[in-house]
Amino acid sequence: MKAHDGMYIDGAWHPAAGRDVIEVVNPADEQVIGRVPAGTAEDVDTAVRAARAALPGWAATPPAERAARLAALRDVLEARKDEIAETVTAELGSPLKFSQGVHAGVPIAVAGSYAELAATYAFEEKVGNSTVHHEPIGVVGAITPWNYPLHQIVAKAAPALAAGCTVVLKPAEDTPLVAQLFAEAVHEAGVPAGVFNLVTGRGPVAGQALAEHPGVDLVSFTGSTAVGRQIAAVAGAAIKKVALELGGKSANVILPSADLAKAVNVGVANVMSNSGQTCSAWTRMLVHRDQYDEAVELAAAAAAKYGERIGPVVSAKQQERVLGYVEKGVAEGARLVAGGTEAPREQGYFVSPTVFADVTPEMTIAQEEIFGPVLSILKYEDEEDALRIANGTVYGLAGAVWAGEEAEAVAFARRMDTGQVDINGGRFNPLAPFGGYKQSGVGRELGTHGLAEYLQTKSLQF
Ligand code: NAD
Repeated sequence: MKAHDGMYIDGAWHPAAGRDVIEVVNPADEQVIGRVPAGTAEDVDTAVRAARAALPGWAATPPAERAARLAALRDVLEARKDEIAETVTAELGSPLKFSQGVHAGVPIAVAGSYAELAATYAFEEKVGNSTVHHEPIGVVGAITPWNYPLHQIVAKAAPALAAGCTVVLKPAEDTPLVAQLFAEAVHEAGVPAGVFNLVTGRGPVAGQALAEHPGVDLVSFTGSTAVGRQIAAVAGAAIKKVALELGGKSANVILPSADLAKAVNVGVANVMSNSGQTCSAWTRMLVHRDQYDEAVELAAAAAAKYGERIGPVVSAKQQERVLGYVEKGVAEGARLVAGGTEAPREQGYFVSPTVFADVTPEMTIAQEEIFGPVLSILKYEDEEDALRIANGTVYGLAGAVWAGEEAEAVAFARRMDTGQVDINGGRFNPLAPFGGYKQSGVGRELGTHGLAEYLQTKSLQF
């Protein structure tokens, strides 16, 4: 795989300050496919200075011109779609078809949506005798995870650029190659030097330096709740704004009036897709006690069918973590009906699609985010019980409700403490705000809500 041995700063690739490198491994065959520099605080400082220097010019660029650069970026991503998909498949391990449709397709849609929003957003509005100006917040430090590696980058960089902010990105260690490809795309799209900068590196070194840098006005972070908490503490002390997209343990609530087979099959596919490494995955399936046995049987069969189509998880560390949770589930008394504690292949970091029945709400596998292809099926007595279980974790990122009538599902969804709910399956909408209640995060990504995160408000009175 093509890899740059430098950092993209101020419109060009520069050698890193230190000599440490990160080896990028293909999780399907454990081969090293590239090496990227592991940045230090010095690289971060150079990048933040470049972003600060570029800020006044980009902030003053008319929104229509910013929109034109984003439209060009969208077009470059589209033109390089196959390359994006191949890169994500190589470093994340996802099946190529999924990489094409989702890992490449979704960021193209999101970049396109911000090209349109930059052109149409009301950056100034009249309120009585005042004019309210929505101005860029400044330099954005973006820190992203590996699970949807390009989507997570575009969901931050595109609205930030639309808003008139400049950006320093620190992508995940496991998937830096698609981040380098994105920097090339930004360059090709004619975005001015310094507006977007990339520092590859390790979280506790480059990531922390970026989060702590006084030249960063907003830290936008997607990743684990543990790291999010650290970043929020640093930003809190500096009275700096943060946007946090964190973990989840979302409930898929199947009401008795629903089409059970459809709800279970879609529910299993939702959890297994991307090998379970989706923060919004419906990892807890809630089924009425009268339909429970049938649902368990359907889910076990669906998971077994999924077996041949699933990619590996991202790393040896992740494989160990996921299998550790499966062992814990067994130890706490849940019943394995698909998959198991053994790695299914000798080579590659694979985990079998796994389904647990007889899971109770207090079990570890019903409370903690596993981030692997593991589904827990829980039994409820009545709707109030289902609601209590659905809302009974520290998380509140996503969820699903299935019912015979949409109105019934919507009534239940209104009572869920969660940032988004799919009704009878739902469909991804790149304009709908995405983000968490409770410990799943602060702020929203996508659409106008995502753009607003990168703006601050000034009012002029007349
Ligand atoms: P992680 O928190 O370990 O890493 C995320 C990013 O933070 C990486 O770029 C990493 O290098 C960096 N980082 C690590 N330590 C840091 C530190 N001390 N200071 C600054 N940066 C640091 O998470 P991960 O294992 O890469 O990703 C999995 C987690 O991400 C899961 O918990 C998942 O739910 C969450 N996630 C959430 C969303 C969402 O939108 N809510 C989306 C994807 C993933």
